[in-house]
Formats: sequence, C-alpha cells, structure tokens
Amino acid sequence: MPEEEVLEESVLNPVKPEIQDPLLQALLAESAALDAAPTEQELPDLLPNPVEEVDCVVIGTGAGGAPLLARLAMAGLKVVALEAGPRRNPARDYATDEKAQSFLFWNDERLSAGQSPVAFGKNNSGTGVGGSTLHYTAYTPRAHANDLTLHRDFGQGVDWPFGIEELEPYYEELEHFLGVSGPTPYPWNPSRRKGYPLAPLPLNGAAQLMQRACAQLGIQTSPAANAALSARYYQEGIGWREACTNRGFCQAGCNRGAKASMDVTFLPLAESYGAEIRADAFVTEIERDEQGRVTGVVYEQYGQTVRQRCRHLFLCAGAVETPRLLMLNELALSSGHVGKNFMAHPGMQVWGTFPEDIRPYKGIPGGLISEDTHRPKNADFAGGYLLQSIGVMPVTFATQMVRQRKLWGQALRDYMRSYNHMAGINILGDCLPHAANFLELAEEKDARGLPKPRLHFTAQENEQRMNRHAEKLMRQIWEAAGARDIWAFERYAHVIGTARMGLSGDDAVVNPEGRAFDVPNLYICDNSVFPSALSVNPALTIMALSLRTADKFLASLR
Ligand SMILES: Cc1cc2nc3c(=O)[nH]c(=O)nc-3n(C[C@H](O)[C@H](O)[C@H](O)COP(=O)(O)OP(=O)(O)OC[C@H]3O[C@@H](n4cnc5c(N)ncnc54)[C@H](O)[C@@H]3O)c2cc1C
Ligand code: SF4
Repeated sequence: MPEEEVLEESVLNPVKPEIQDPLLQALLAESAALDAAPTEQELPDLLPNPVEEVDCVVIGTGAGGAPLLARLAMAGLKVVALEAGPRRNPARDYATDEKAQSFLFWNDERLSAGQSPVAFGKNNSGTGVGGSTLHYTAYTPRAHANDLTLHRDFGQGVDWPFGIEELEPYYEELEHFLGVSGPTPYPWNPSRRKGYPLAPLPLNGAAQLMQRACAQLGIQTSPAANAALSARYYQEGIGWREACTNRGFCQAGCNRGAKASMDVTFLPLAESYGAEIRADAFVTEIERDEQGRVTGVVYEQYGQTVRQRCRHLFLCAGAVETPRLLMLNELALSSGHVGKNFMAHPGMQVWGTFPEDIRPYKGIPGGLISEDTHRPKNADFAGGYLLQSIGVMPVTFATQMVRQRKLWGQALRDYMRSYNHMAGINILGDCLPHAANFLELAEEKDARGLPKPRLHFTAQENEQRMNRHAEKLMRQIWEAAGARDIWAFERYAHVIGTARMGLSGDDAVVNPEGRAFDVPNLYICDNSVFPSALSVNPALTIMALSLRTADKFLASLR
C-alpha cells in the first residue's frame, strides 16, 4: 500500500475511541487477555539445536505422515515431524462457516494445464497439523483386491507390487483405531474378518433420496463406512472422543473431534510417545552426503532458516509437494518417473431439484454408498467406480453453478434460492496413468522464490467412457427419485501417482516397502506412491500404506 494511503487512514481515524463504562472495560480487558494468551497448542515450537541428529524426520502430517509418525515414536525412535501449516484448536478455530475455514486448504497457487485442468485449493490438498484429513469427508471404504490388478485384468495401467492381503491387516487395525462407523456385514465384501466397530451414521437428505431411488432401480446401496463416530469412542493413548452431532460442514473442520482427522487420532498418540511436531515449518531443502544418503533437511519457520539433521527421512508432503520437493532438490530422479503418472479420480456429480426440503449443508455429507458399479457388466472401460451421496456447503455449491452452468449475478441468486431443495450424487472412479498427465516445475515463482508446480491433466478415453456410463446411471437415479432440472458437473479430484511404487527403479520411484530406489534412507508415503488410482476414496489406503511403510522400515532396523 502506498504511504499516502496509510497517512490518509490515520487522518480519518485520529483518535482511538475510549470505553467509558468501567464494567465493560473490565470485560473487554479480560477477553483481550484470553485472546492474547497462547494456548498450550499454539505456543511456537522452540527452534531446534541444528547439530542434533534425530532418527527420523517426517515431512507432512496428513494421512501419509501421521500414522507412521506414531508407529516410529511407539518403537522408541526419536522422531520429528515438520509441517508447513499451523496447528489449530478444533473447538475454537473450526467455525460453521465455509468461507472462514478456507485456511484449511493449500492455497498457494498451483498451475493447472491440459484439456481437463484440475481445480486446486478447495478441491484438493489441505495444510496444517493433520493435513488434508482436517477437511476430508471421511468416507473410508477399503480398496478391493482387483483394484490392485488393473493391468492383469484389463491390460491397462499398472498393478500394485503386492496384493490386498498386505493391506488388509492394516485396514482392520485402522478401522478399530479410528472408530469407523459402517455396516456389518459390508455388502460388497462380506468375507471381511471383522465388522466395523461402530454402527452406521444417519443418512442426510440426499442419501435418503438416493437410497429410495436405487431400491426402485434394483441398485444395492448401504450406509457408507465413515471415519466419524456414531457413538462416543475410547482410543488408547488419546482418551474419549465425542460422537458426531450431524452438524454437517465436515469439510470446514470438525469442531467436536468426532471426525477421525489426524490431529485428534494419530498425532496426539505420536506425541504421547515423544514425537515432536513442529508446525509452520516449510521444508525447502533436503541435504545429502557424498554417497547420496539424506543427512538432514532445511526449513523455514517464523522467518528463520533452520537445519534438522536426521538418519532417515520420510517424505509425506502429498502428491504435489512430494514430487515438487524431489525435483527442487534433484533427488530420486533416476527412474524419470517423478511427477509422471499423475492420476485424478473422475468425480462426476449429478444434481437435481426436489420438492422435498433437503438442506444439503445438514447432516454427515458422506452418508450412502453403492459399489454395484465396481465392475459393471455393460462397461466399455477398464476398472470401475462407486456411487456416493453428497452434502454440499452453500459457497461451494454456488461456485459449481458458476463453473458448470455459467450462472452469474441475478441468475445465480435466483437459482441459489432453491439451494435447500438440491441434492447431489457423485462417482469416484479409476483413472489410468497417461503420458500427457504429469507434474512439472514452472518458470513462474511462488512467494518463496521457488518454481510453482504445474499439473497437466486431460481425461483420456477410459475416463470419458466411465463418465458417460456414470452420468447416464446417475440421471436415471435422480429421475426415479422425482428430481427436475437434472444437470451434471464433470470434475476430477485427488492428486495421485506422481512418485509411484513398483518392483523396479526403471519405472517407479519407490520400492514395495516405500523406500526410494535411488536413496537408501529416503521413504515416501502419501497419495503420490499409488501405482493406480483405485476405485475408492484414498485416505484409508494411504493410512494403511503409512503403517505398512513404518513396519517395513522398523523390520529393516532389526
Ligand atoms: C473436499 C475434500 C474431501 C475429501 N474427502 C475424502 C474422503 O471422504 N475420503 C477419502 O478417502 N479422501 C478424501 N479426500 C482426499 C484425502 O483428503 C486426501 O487424498 C488425503 O488426505 C491425502 O493425504 P496425503 O498424506 O497424501 O497428503 P496431505 O494430507 O495433503 O498431507 C500433506 C501434508 O504435508 C504438508 N506439506 C506439504 N509440503 C510441505 C513442505 N514443503 N514442508 C512441510 N510440510 C509440507 C502439507 O501442509 C500437508 O499437511 C478429500 C479431499 C478433499 C479436497
Ligand atoms: S457432521 Fe459430525 S463429523 Fe462432520 S463436522 Fe459435524 S460433528 Fe464432525
């Protein structure tokens, strides 16, 4: 701002108004003191002694970083987590106000290219102690065995380097640790060894309509597995977590701690075993010795540059920042696959207007699921998808109207008057890796002077065929439910596969244990290591991989 404007402002407001009433003065002073006093959670972390070497540094505290942080701390290792975002206090900071909560998202600019450019910010990763789980909807279905074998089954994409039996014990452990609410038996996997620990959550308006219409059409539905508590739940090492109150707004952060985000589950567990979490710590450099082993990292915190030495590094910064850090540091690049194989889930939504009062902001948004479309009989594409009901907050919905229906001004205001009568369903489906879809460093620099990431994405024939199949089916569902003014919104969400896992360093960045082929003491664990996108929401599988990576690493130390 030019200096004249500052001067002008002080001329306009030359005197600070004084409060005369002594009682009001005392009350305001008390509240100012409360506001100013940092809570224990807010206190800035002490800057570390730069010469101290710890066993492990973990970069990122989301679904990929948090479970392994706890596992490593529980094994007695000295571990430090570096998290670019701040630490929040859910009860105080998570308002029922989606605009106010935009700080939960990774808002640094990412450049989007290709014919189906992916939206970032709200549509993608988060930041803060807990990462993207702070805003996720907490749908937590397991992957199917054949999600890992697309190439074997269809001759397209690549297979995972291990089978589902490697993930199942971790799914089971996670569902019980997090307190996942869900149906027992699960209709699309009745052979599961254990049921869900909690009964399903209640269904919101859209879910009830979808359930009714699917029953008419012979499509099986079920309340979804969701990592929000349908009853009070005790977690070892943490204590009691309160049940979900059906407030909705899960994507604006859960102020009750009922949703199993990492800040109320694995991270307090990790800290209770001695892990140190440094918030507001943005890692920029990864240092190596002459043999190419990682020796430490450099990060920015509170305006200072800090070095932390470590014996092992776990990179869990999400599928954009992980490959970006590798590229910026010219690390683990020999396969030529860092940044390649970028996949994004087809997430087409279909909306309708109903005579019923739906109130789409209300109730748990992740409510109803159908996996009948996992391998549809009449499909002309590889892989499959699932169907889910949606809840949507008003600003997000209005933004979609602008993007898809090109409504603006009075027309948008008029349409939004029917917001309480709108209901949506969406899919989440497989995406195949393609040479045209990748992440690169752009010429353009961010506020830190680092090149911005640019992501190219063009939906290919397989994704387009899947979208056509799904749109037709979802329109039938909403017609059966009695909707008018049905419209579809083509979208792609989740960044996946940019540092993939495989059997060989010729076409993968990390081995089946999550260790970089090029760097013996570097592990990667987040959405970037997925060899294929899966036809289910990713967070539970990221957490399962995280625990597995920790166990493989700990076994290698013995
Ligand atoms: C609106 C929305 C709803 C969703 N709902 C669901 C759902 O219902 N179910 C589901 O399974 N998935 C859902 N997802 C997706 C899911 O949240 C993510 O796929 C998953 O949480 C990603 O985990 P991650 O560990 O790979 O990355 P993240 O959770 O994004 O973690 C990366 C962390 O690393 C930190 N970081 C990045 N760079 C640096 C750096 N240089 N230095 C230090 N720290 C750094 C970031 O701040 C962040 O905290 C949803 C996503 C969105 C956008
Ligand atoms: S609906 Fe439940 S899980 Fe979601 S924010 Fe509200 S209390 Fe938390």
